[in-house]
Amino acid sequence: MRRRLLHILILLFTTTFIQAQQPKRHNTSQIYESIQKLNFLGSVLYIAAHPDDENTRLISYMSNQLHARTGYLSLTRGDGGQNLIGPEIRELLGVIRTQELLAARRIDGGEQFFTRANDFGYSKHPDETLAIWNKEDVLSDVVLAIRKFKPDVIINRFDYKNPGSTHGHHTSSAMLSMEAFDISNDASKFQNQLKNIEVWQAKRLFFNTSWWFYGSREKFNKADKSKMLSFDVGVYYPQKGLSNNELASIASSQHLSQGFGRLSQRGTQPEYIEFLKGEFPSDESNIFSDVDTSWNRVKGGNAIGEILNSIEDNFNFKDPSIHLNDLIKAYQLISSIEDTHWKTIKTKELKSIIETCAGLYLEASATTPALSPNSEVKINIEVLKRSQAKIKLQALTLSTINKTLNPSENLENNKKYTYEISGIIPSNINYTNAYWLNKKGTLGMYNVDDQNLIGLPETERALHVNFSIDFNGYSIDFQEDVIYRYSKPDKGELYRPFEIIPEASAKILEKVIIFDTDKQKDIQVIVKSGRDNLEGFVQIAHPKGWSIYPEKQNIQISHKGETQTIVFTVIPPKNQSEGLITPMVHVDDEIYTRELVEINYDHIPFQTVLLPSESKIVRLDIKKKGDNIGYIIGAGDVVPESLRHIGYNVVTIKPEDINAETLSRFDAIVVGIRAYNTVENLQYKQQELFDYVAQGGNMIVQYNTSYRLKVEHIAPYELKLSRDRVTDENAEVKFLNPEHPILNFPNKVTQQDFEGWTQERGLYFPDKWAKEFTPILSMHDKGESAKKGSLLVAKHGRGYYIYTGLSFFREFPAGVSGAYRLFANMLSIGKDNINLESKIND
Ligand SMILES: [Zn+2]
Repeated sequence: MRRRLLHILILLFTTTFIQAQQPKRHNTSQIYESIQKLNFLGSVLYIAAHPDDENTRLISYMSNQLHARTGYLSLTRGDGGQNLIGPEIRELLGVIRTQELLAARRIDGGEQFFTRANDFGYSKHPDETLAIWNKEDVLSDVVLAIRKFKPDVIINRFDYKNPGSTHGHHTSSAMLSMEAFDISNDASKFQNQLKNIEVWQAKRLFFNTSWWFYGSREKFNKADKSKMLSFDVGVYYPQKGLSNNELASIASSQHLSQGFGRLSQRGTQPEYIEFLKGEFPSDESNIFSDVDTSWNRVKGGNAIGEILNSIEDNFNFKDPSIHLNDLIKAYQLISSIEDTHWKTIKTKELKSIIETCAGLYLEASATTPALSPNSEVKINIEVLKRSQAKIKLQALTLSTINKTLNPSENLENNKKYTYEISGIIPSNINYTNAYWLNKKGTLGMYNVDDQNLIGLPETERALHVNFSIDFNGYSIDFQEDVIYRYSKPDKGELYRPFEIIPEASAKILEKVIIFDTDKQKDIQVIVKSGRDNLEGFVQIAHPKGWSIYPEKQNIQISHKGETQTIVFTVIPPKNQSEGLITPMVHVDDEIYTRELVEINYDHIPFQTVLLPSESKIVRLDIKKKGDNIGYIIGAGDVVPESLRHIGYNVVTIKPEDINAETLSRFDAIVVGIRAYNTVENLQYKQQELFDYVAQGGNMIVQYNTSYRLKVEHIAPYELKLSRDRVTDENAEVKFLNPEHPILNFPNKVTQQDFEGWTQERGLYFPDKWAKEFTPILSMHDKGESAKKGSLLVAKHGRGYYIYTGLSFFREFPAGVSGAYRLFANMLSIGKDNINLESKIND
């Protein structure tokens, strides 16, 4: 028991520093900047495709220099990228990159929006992109974003012309923006959106051009700039002690999962935007030219502007609380304007200014980081007023649970008031989760129906406390999310969001389980409890033809947060078969089938994600020759583990250990992805590897890129790498040499083996090779010429050298049986003769 307790403690306290969740503590410079922003009524929407596409210099300039409301609409959440900081890929990476964008916006002052488009991976052309995305739905979401945000100016990151010159998602983002600009003001378009929102016409549309789009700085210098506006994004902000481009570098360095940590830049730096559509500005130095960005823009705004501009002009940096009476007066006026759009935005901004000017500290922290429905939550509330202002705390209300306290307390200067609210979390409350992952989507789209959610960066928290505060007879409500606050000796004070978790969640330890024979295997199921005293039983849902026993097993977990591991035995069918298995945890009358994933990095807030708990089981019909494989690791892939799963003995070899004697112990040597791009020492070992092949060895090299190749000769014969890739994972595969042993021994490879591939066929295929190489397969993406370099085999001396850009490193972890069978043939090539010889000798 003690050990278990210790285990929970360790689990709880390994959570790391989350600056993002720290309550806002604005100093007077920041309050002053907020007032400057309050007095500017203009907005800019920046549009691109991915997290990290956005030009943070421009976003920061719009927000901090012009004080404009600045949004970034990223069509996708970047699920298809690579993760340089951890194991999360696909939708989990999308959750990380969403939070990285929010972290960047907290620094550059922008706001963040999305569409339902899913980043399905690399796309060569917008035609392909818009076919995989649902074009109408993504266009609808861009129009919706424009109608909700009401930008005066829209800026595209990418060129809508020249499809095929960059990622298809990029060009699509610009094309959709062009189209949305024209139709967002047309009430006949996407009418269903117009129940709660209005049509909107942006004033003008720009393209954020740069020399990069012209091929060189020289060409850009000579380009016609009569339709371009430019500004200096290197301006210095004395109030911040930072240059705009410095601030922008800090913002873009939040994209750590993409390796964007970078040096900051200072000094003057021109930025260009090219006019595309709308009204050309009569004043070319001002993108808001001909737009009234003062308070006069709204009906009844004149009086508000008078008060607020006077505060801005006479701001008291020593004691901002002296402005409170005027701020409250302005607040009352704003509350009564008709324009609901500006009323909503400016009330929110002003509320935060009032809170900070009054020196208010409002916090609601739960006594535990997470709870399941029906359990009791206890919340500690802290209220302080650090100023001379006359303020009364009237009421505290816990949302969702509807518990109210009425302290009716006149707050004394800098005296801490504490309260406690508790209540039972309702049984019908939603679990904490990324809203776009609640329903199963398609390859190209997330499945979200609620128009109120579409576009939002994250899900609103379920529990918050409402602080009703009276300023000299005028009451304003302040809302704070419930958080969890704790400390760690080596990190200091820590905050994380309070979360609602299911009573039980479960996962199968391995995501893909491969059976290369009909022998049974044990699987481990880890059940996690979301409450104390969990009792129930677990069954495993499985496809026909497979058996799993025992049929059910009981679980009993004493404490919330603890896990119990149970073992089931899986018996595969005799023949090739595959399917999904799901653990089902029965507790009382409920069945829990989801897995709870925790995402914990220092630069973003702690996240939990609920995903369907599924593992793939694959019964492979596979034959193999040779057992011992030496693996030279490149940029990192899971190929060695995958080969072990199908019975190979795989040993990883360090470059310094490559010599004739070591190599002679292996039936085949496999080189990991991008090894010749990442492993410096391989350049001195190529000859030994080629000699090993010449003496009867078998060498398989997976994809490398031609850029920054560390060897002169990647193969014993001429081989030129190109950027050819086949991104359609269903692209037809033609057998150029059907009789070649690699397609026949020991497994007969058929078209069926190329079914069910994931993400792509392969990448960076060679496009030129010596006559010694035999090309085996031909494939291509829609509208392109045949690519024949995906699998090339050369006899060299008594052995074989194979170069392949096929994406085995993606297919293996997805349990694609055909990829395993083809790879087994690559490892077995030449081994038929050896066996014959040894048989004769016997
Ligand atoms: Zn991009």
